[in-house]
Amino acid sequence: MKYISTRGATAPKSFSEVLLMGLAPDGGLMLPDHYPQVDEATLQKWRVLSYPELAFEIISLFATDIQHDDLCDIVNRTYTESVFGTVEITPVRTLSDGIKIEALSNGPTLAFKDMAMQFLGNAFEYVLAKEGRQINILGATSGDTGSAAEYALRGKKNVNVFMLSPEGKMSAFQRAQMFSLQDENIHNIAVEGMFDDCQDIVKAVQNDVRFKAEYHIGTVNSINWGRIVAQVVYYFAGYFNATTSNEQKVSFCVPSGNFGNVCAGHIARQMGLPVCRLIVATNENDVLDEFFKTGRYRPRNTEHTHVTSSPSMDISKASNFERFVFDLMERDAGKIQSLWADVASGEGFDLKDQLEQVRDKYGFVSGKSTHTDRLATIRQVYEQDDELIDPHTADGVKVAREVREAGETIVCLETALAAKFDQTIYEAVGDVTIPRPIGLGGLEDLPQRVEVVKNDVGLVKNIIRAALE
Ligand SMILES: *Cc1c(COP(=O)(O)O)cnc(C)c1O
Repeated sequence: MKYISTRGATAPKSFSEVLLMGLAPDGGLMLPDHYPQVDEATLQKWRVLSYPELAFEIISLFATDIQHDDLCDIVNRTYTESVFGTVEITPVRTLSDGIKIEALSNGPTLAFKDMAMQFLGNAFEYVLAKEGRQINILGATSGDTGSAAEYALRGKKNVNVFMLSPEGKMSAFQRAQMFSLQDENIHNIAVEGMFDDCQDIVKAVQNDVRFKAEYHIGTVNSINWGRIVAQVVYYFAGYFNATTSNEQKVSFCVPSGNFGNVCAGHIARQMGLPVCRLIVATNENDVLDEFFKTGRYRPRNTEHTHVTSSPSMDISKASNFERFVFDLMERDAGKIQSLWADVASGEGFDLKDQLEQVRDKYGFVSGKSTHTDRLATIRQVYEQDDELIDPHTADGVKVAREVREAGETIVCLETALAAKFDQTIYEAVGDVTIPRPIGLGGLEDLPQRVEVVKNDVGLVKNIIRAALE
């Protein structure tokens, strides 16, 4: 399988090559040149597989230049009970109102990013060792990507991690998780700005071709293809868990920010998984909800990005969205170039003529949840089901309840655990004991390592140079 860029001006690449890439040199995102098709007989075979077996089957369709034995070894080391808490890896449960919840948040950082990042850490190490290469990961995080990347890459050979986060915008738990890591290959950099500023710095460094080559800069932020492909797996696993036959259809409701998670759902659906609707749930930062309702895509700047109580969704430029629009525009790279020129100019674009296709052919719908909705949903689930869901998952549950049609099975993706966001939980339900996985008590009291910088590309480059020289 070959990978192509959404902007059409990058030579086709192999899986191992895109694994270590960020943005394509032409500014686009890499995608497989076609989506492998999964037929009914294959679904039937896959239904009974364990999670690592399923991961092998799916990823091997995309990672055609990695030897089967090696890939098998990578997924077996990645998706284990000791890393993800259960043999099922992503167990599905049902709330009393019938909404199903697929738990993606039982990895080391208690958020769904671990699902992909733990795979990526092992895949990186494998490819780097094989090619005798070194890589310095530069990433931007609004909370969960950063810690997931750091936990996946800490102590790994031939890898350094430079992780930018918006200063003061993450929860105390999220900060403690990242900044308490003492591994020498992990570098935390807090930028005085918002998440989108961090992401702009990453893009600026990526666009500095000389610097990028000299310092072997790579990325693991949500545009990395290796993450998307690993995420495709849990849509299949969730589907099999929620159904008894392949005649049934399931809708997925996905708390969204950068569109990475639901992009994997789109790909699973394109491969032939019987997905009815893909429900995009946003918080107050509703740039995606606006698109799916009106066809207008108007990324906001940082002054118009709200700091919310579901902070990992505080994103106003959904970086993976370009992958979906590429498919929507029938893979016309010229159209993507012109649409994203309009994004770059600050204007955005309007695809209202395609809206019917977005809904009917691709199954997308959306909804929005606010702080009040989030609190009310956490409280209702607590009262009705005696369990605490995290604020991002609550946004999903709120939207799922709102758009659900008679007879529709909706699987909400649980993207984090309540333990990470205790302040919002207290606000919703009062002073309760929030279950915290063993081993994480006292995390906030550990010494922290972080460097604070102004919102400035040059200063960030200096930190990278100093660390590597
Ligand atoms: C990253 C994240 C999201 C948003 O996922 P995207 O792939 O950026 O759309 C939602 N919830 C949590 C808890 C996250 O960490």
